Amino acid sequence: MSTPELNTPDAVASTRISHFIRHLIEADLLSGKFAERKWSGEPGPNAHSPVGAGNTPLVGNDPAKIRTRFPPEPNGYLHFGHAKSICLNFGLASDYAGACHLRFDDTNPEKEEQEYVDSIIDAVHWLGFEWKFGAEKNEYFASSYFQWMYDFAVKLIENDLAYVDSQTPDEMRANRGTLTHGGVDSPFRTRTIAENLDLFQRMKAGEFPDGAHILRAKIDMNSGNINLRDPAIYRIRHATHHATGNDWCIYPMYTYAHPIEDALENITHSICTLEFEDQRPFYDWLLGHLAALGCINTPPPQQIEFARLNLTYMVLSKRKLIQLVEEKHVSGWDDPRMPTLVGARRRGYTAAGFRRFMEMIGVAKNHQLIDISVLEECMRDDLNETAQRRIAVLDPIKLIIDNYPDGQTEETQPPNHPQQPELGVRVVPFSKELWIERDDFVEAPPKGYFRLFPGNRVRLRYGFVIECTGCDKNAAGEITAVHCNYFADSKSGTSGSANYKVKGNIHWLSAAHAQSVEVRLYDRLFSVEAPGDGGKDYIEELNPASLTKITAYVEPSLMQAQAEDHFQFERHGYFVADRVDSKSGAPVFNRAVTLKDAWAKAAK
Ligand code: ATP
Ligand code: MG
Repeated sequence: MSTPELNTPDAVASTRISHFIRHLIEADLLSGKFAERKWSGEPGPNAHSPVGAGNTPLVGNDPAKIRTRFPPEPNGYLHFGHAKSICLNFGLASDYAGACHLRFDDTNPEKEEQEYVDSIIDAVHWLGFEWKFGAEKNEYFASSYFQWMYDFAVKLIENDLAYVDSQTPDEMRANRGTLTHGGVDSPFRTRTIAENLDLFQRMKAGEFPDGAHILRAKIDMNSGNINLRDPAIYRIRHATHHATGNDWCIYPMYTYAHPIEDALENITHSICTLEFEDQRPFYDWLLGHLAALGCINTPPPQQIEFARLNLTYMVLSKRKLIQLVEEKHVSGWDDPRMPTLVGARRRGYTAAGFRRFMEMIGVAKNHQLIDISVLEECMRDDLNETAQRRIAVLDPIKLIIDNYPDGQTEETQPPNHPQQPELGVRVVPFSKELWIERDDFVEAPPKGYFRLFPGNRVRLRYGFVIECTGCDKNAAGEITAVHCNYFADSKSGTSGSANYKVKGNIHWLSAAHAQSVEVRLYDRLFSVEAPGDGGKDYIEELNPASLTKITAYVEPSLMQAQAEDHFQFERHGYFVADRVDSKSGAPVFNRAVTLKDAWAKAAK
């Protein structure tokens, strides 16, 4: 198993492509905007920083130059879109001597599960990132902030910045107004502070059923931004929460909880996707008031939006991924065709390949649709450097060297990596009967075909030059074996080999020594660029050939492959020993990516 390699600030600074978020952070660092923020070592409100005798603060300035966070809701497995957010947030923190928190946004009582928490921790670690900062653990659960969120709501009520509304949901919807028309004040908007405090306290005490009342921020029902028309901030929900049990029957709304989570954790740059842009004015309204009321550290965090990642031939929404799993179009969340990080890892995609990809596509302000071939190319580039070479024959036909001595075996020594001689060689046995790929022989060659056909010469890689003499066929006319003669003085690595000039160069395995293994050839899960586009059912657009299972021959050394070992099968692509189904001495191989982009060829 490969160990994750961590970003170090020095290693990255010189290689990074700049973008608007970097510019913003660099400007903040230069102006010292966040330099005086206090930090006690753990999340908490401003009052949490005690003041010592003689008014000396007991807490110092935050040692982290910036703080970012990755805040997944633990209600599913992470997908490639999350990887973008992870690489961005953790990458920026490590580049600018900051900290990135892993925060589970578990304020919604009914959905979260431990299985998802564990898989998220695993996935972020696998991508090569760490949330510890000095002695800080920085792994947080938003639900542990419920009391502070409640206290802050009380503060808002006390300052006439929030009120309890008792309209029905229909009335509330009708009175919200539209994009072109302002809203109408709720008849409950003029409740006194005392009445609001009493009602909110009784909401918390469980006196009312779900939906009876709601706490709203008191802003402006005529705001041009609908999000500022007195947004709901607390609702009644009699539900058991996975962490806080039945302690609470009122829960904060996401738009209220998220800014507070950021502020409690001293986040400086709260990076989110574009659809939250319209929420930014409320984010600033809320934190501005809480800062003025002395509830949180100053200056408050700043929300910054970027375009979410979309990829061709993929769907990246949790809802659709759940459907694929539940309707068994795939074998599970970790099916190697799924755009989940567990799936990608199992398929043989690498963490370094993902980091390379995220760096390459950058960060944009406008919607981003990236061709999946860019991701595949990044995986190829990474695997080309790291994967050792091996030989596999995926669609075998027998090649018989008629002039090679019966019963003789000799060694060939292919390099483990052609560009990295220090990785050495391994022994691949050679003998009279070999397996070669079926399509490396034709009886009548088309123009430009340089491999085996009667009368033609090719080199058997790392072995001898041979000349094809013909083939055997069965009664049905199918080719059953190919025949050739070899030139004994042509072996690779010997002085005689230079005397032979051939255009074709094919791989092979000794039939007596080759081992059978299961190989899974994965291809894109969808056969169209934009599944579901134009009102189509994306399920209808699944690629029927996205998985082919075959039995292939591999060289003997591959039987020792350990789960998650990556290889290049020469002339085929990059493969990994499946981490679920491989057994000791009996690996199963998954194709991560072909050597060349077969789809590009098909399109032309
Ligand atoms: P989905 O829409 O697939 O359900 P989500 O946004 O609900 O995803 P969360 O767990 O809330 O999933 O997301 C955690 C973080 O990942 C958020 O900060 C979110 O902005 C980010 N994120 C999710 N999808 C993408 C994407 N496609 N591109 C970039 N960032 C993303
Ligand atoms: Mg979400």
